[in-house]
Amino acid sequence: MSCPRVEVDLAKIRRNTQTLVSRLGPRGISVTGVTKAVCGHPTIARAMLEGGAVGLADARITNVQRLRAAGLTDPITLIRTPMLSQADHIVQSCETSYNTEMLVITALAATAIRKGAVHGIVLMVEMGDQRDGILPENLADIAQQVMQMSGVALKGISANFACLNGLAPTALQMDAFCDLANEIEGVCGPFLKIVSGGNSANLPWALGEHATGRVNDLRLGEAILLGVEPVSGDRIDGMYTDAFTLVAEVIETGSKPAPSAIALVNPTLARRRIAQASGVSKRFIVAMGHQDTDILGLSMPVGSTLIGATSDHLVIGMPGTPPPLGSEVRFHLNYNALMHAMAAPDIEVTLLGNQSMRPSRHTQGEVGHLALV
Ligand SMILES: *Cc1c(COP(=O)(O)O)cnc(C)c1O
Repeated sequence: MSCPRVEVDLAKIRRNTQTLVSRLGPRGISVTGVTKAVCGHPTIARAMLEGGAVGLADARITNVQRLRAAGLTDPITLIRTPMLSQADHIVQSCETSYNTEMLVITALAATAIRKGAVHGIVLMVEMGDQRDGILPENLADIAQQVMQMSGVALKGISANFACLNGLAPTALQMDAFCDLANEIEGVCGPFLKIVSGGNSANLPWALGEHATGRVNDLRLGEAILLGVEPVSGDRIDGMYTDAFTLVAEVIETGSKPAPSAIALVNPTLARRRIAQASGVSKRFIVAMGHQDTDILGLSMPVGSTLIGATSDHLVIGMPGTPPPLGSEVRFHLNYNALMHAMAAPDIEVTLLGNQSMRPSRHTQGEVGHLALV
């Protein structure tokens, strides 16, 4: 197996999805699996579907196209408001997209009419994260405009929390969001099919004591992939946090004298030196660096310390005997590290635990992506 590589335990991703699906189901909430952190990897997406996700979502059309190219026919939603220049691709590959701009919706409608299709629109509402979203006071008006357009169909509304401002939603905010769902139906008439309450940061609310009201969907990426709740970083009870492992190879071992004074006045070096070893440090280097992942998002092997990293080298210190030259060192990753590693061209993705739980109608065309080990 080549290094560096990300090992993916598909069974754990399936189980994590199942766990969340089974906890949210009784509260009337379905799970949409978010694939952006794994760049729309088709087999990982399929593990989410096998675990009970009702559909997939991604922020980038390139990732959606990768899923479609692998033969996935399940519904895929674009959860970042489309680029005006990509309307054509979005109508082609996504059943539904999240939208905040009337001009974009108009372009999607025109494209859909040309293709003889109807594109689903979910209106993203700004509920306090201050990223993308229509202001609540403008929502009813925009919803009415969408209702009157041909080529598009209003499918629902969505909220998003904790992305830009890092704050988990409060019960009050979620109640306000549910009120908006009722208000839109009051104005527009039809039943809103999708009332999507947010992302993994909504889980404490969704599984907490408050009623979940009109919310019938959550879009979950981090919780499924890493088993953690993003705001606190805490492990979610009963979930696997080790579905992904980053493996890199040792290319140098031994000791180095303490850094010279010259190196220490170099601000770039100082910034990257995480742990300042005193005197002679026992250390080793693995062939992986900033170009491959977010080094600060890796958990170091037990007993070792991150000394520093450059674009292609990761220097680790340890008190005992370092691992031998040519051996492999294993790291767990946080969301940032995972996202970068999955997108890095020199990192191979190795899939483990790929025995399907049950035959799926979604498997055709994916065989080329499997690397059974
Ligand atoms: C990334 C994203 C998600 C998924 O977030 P997680 O924290 O990974 O669950 C959901 N919705 C939107 C709009 C996103 O951008």
